[in-house]
Amino acid sequence: MQIRQEVPLAPLTTFKVGGPARYFVEARSEADVCAAVAEARNRGWPLFVLGGGSNLVISDAGWPGMVLKIALTGISERREGPRTLFDAAAGEDWDGFVAHTVAQDCAGIECLSGIPGTVGGTPVQNVGAYGQEVSETITSVRVLDTTTGNTRELENADSGFAYRSSIFNARERGRYIVLRVSFGLRPEGAPRIAYADLKNYFAGRSGPPTLAETREAVRAIRLSKAMLIVPGDDDCRSAGSFFKNPALTREAFEQLQSHNGPIPNFPARDGMVKVAAAWLVEHAGFSKGMSRGAAGISRRHALAIVNRGGATAADIIALKDEIQQRVLDSFGVQLHPEPVFVGFDQQP
Ligand SMILES: Cc1cc2nc3c(=O)[nH]c(=O)nc-3n(C[C@H](O)[C@H](O)[C@H](O)COP(=O)(O)OP(=O)(O)OC[C@H]3O[C@@H](n4cnc5c(N)ncnc54)[C@H](O)[C@@H]3O)c2cc1C
Repeated sequence: MQIRQEVPLAPLTTFKVGGPARYFVEARSEADVCAAVAEARNRGWPLFVLGGGSNLVISDAGWPGMVLKIALTGISERREGPRTLFDAAAGEDWDGFVAHTVAQDCAGIECLSGIPGTVGGTPVQNVGAYGQEVSETITSVRVLDTTTGNTRELENADSGFAYRSSIFNARERGRYIVLRVSFGLRPEGAPRIAYADLKNYFAGRSGPPTLAETREAVRAIRLSKAMLIVPGDDDCRSAGSFFKNPALTREAFEQLQSHNGPIPNFPARDGMVKVAAAWLVEHAGFSKGMSRGAAGISRRHALAIVNRGGATAADIIALKDEIQQRVLDSFGVQLHPEPVFVGFDQQP
C-alpha cells in the first residue's frame, strides 16, 4: 500500500475546487481497503472515502487526514429466476456500468445513464434521475464495517433508502465503506418512460423505444442541461444539482402557491409535496448564467452552482449562502444542499 502525501484533491472532483489530502491511498482490492482503514485508525488520521468526486465540495484547506480513493473494479452477472443479478465493484465508473447492463438488454437503471461518479457512490445518496432511483434495483451492498473491521452484506431493506438518502449518508454516516453493489435487473425488460422530459423526447414516435434508445435520450437531455460531464464545458464544472427539492406539507405548499402562482411540484412520501428547487432559485433572482466572481449558476440549469474557472471553495459557499438566504426571505423555504462538504470546520 502506497501512502502519498499532500495530494491535490480538486482534480479528482467534478467541481475542481479545494485543497490537498494530507495522506492519500488508492485501494484496488478489498485487502487494500482493509489495510488503509487499519493504518488510518492506528495513526489517528481522520478518514474520508473518495469515489468519483462528483458530489463533493472540498474545503480550501483540504482534508487533514487520509483520503481513501476506491478503485476496485470488476463486473459479473448471473441469471437468478426472472432477474439478472449484476455484481459491480465500488470503483467501477457508474455510466460505464449502466452502458454494460443496457448492452446486455437488461432494464432497471437505463434512466440513470450519464450520472457521473462510481458504482459505490450510488447507494450513498440513493442516486436518482428521470423516474428511477438505484434503491429500486439494488438487492444488496457489500461493505466494510469500519467499527469492527469486518465485511458484511447489507440487504436493500437494511440500507434505509429514501429521497437522496440512505444509512450511508445519514444514520450510519462514515461507518461503512461500500465495496460492491448488487443489482437485480429485468432481462429484455421495457425501459421506463415516466418522466415528462423523456415522454416529450419520444412523443410522436410509433413503437416503444428500446433500452439503448432510452439511454441515448437520457444522455441527450442531460447534455442539454449540462448534467453530463463534457471536458472543457464550464457549465458542468459542478457537483450537479446543488440543492435538494424541498418537501412541504400540502398546507404549506398551497399557501406558497396562493402567494406566488403555480410552482412545479411532484408528490412525495406521506402526502408531502416536493417543490422544484430550481424554480425557487430562479424566482428568488438567481438567473441561469449569473456570476459572482469565479462562481456562478450554470447557463443551462438553475440548480447547478458552477466553477467558472479558478473558483475557491469559499466562493462556492458564499454563493450557496446567498441563494439559501434569498430563497428563505422570498418564500420562507429552507433549501438543503445535496453535495457532501469535506474538510470544513463547521458544516456549511
Ligand atoms: C454533472 C452532474 C450531474 C449529476 N446528476 C445527478 C443525478 O441526476 N442524480 C443524482 O442523484 N446525483 C447526481 N449527481 C451527483 C453525483 O454524481 C452522485 O451523487 C454520485 O453517485 C456520486 O458518486 P461519486 O462516486 O462521485 O461519490 P463522491 O462524490 O466521491 O462521494 C460522495 C459521497 O459518497 C461517499 N462515497 C463514495 N464512494 C463511497 C464508497 N465506496 N463507500 C462509502 N462511501 C462512499 C463519499 O465519502 C461522499 O460522502 C450529479 C453530479 C454532477 C457533477
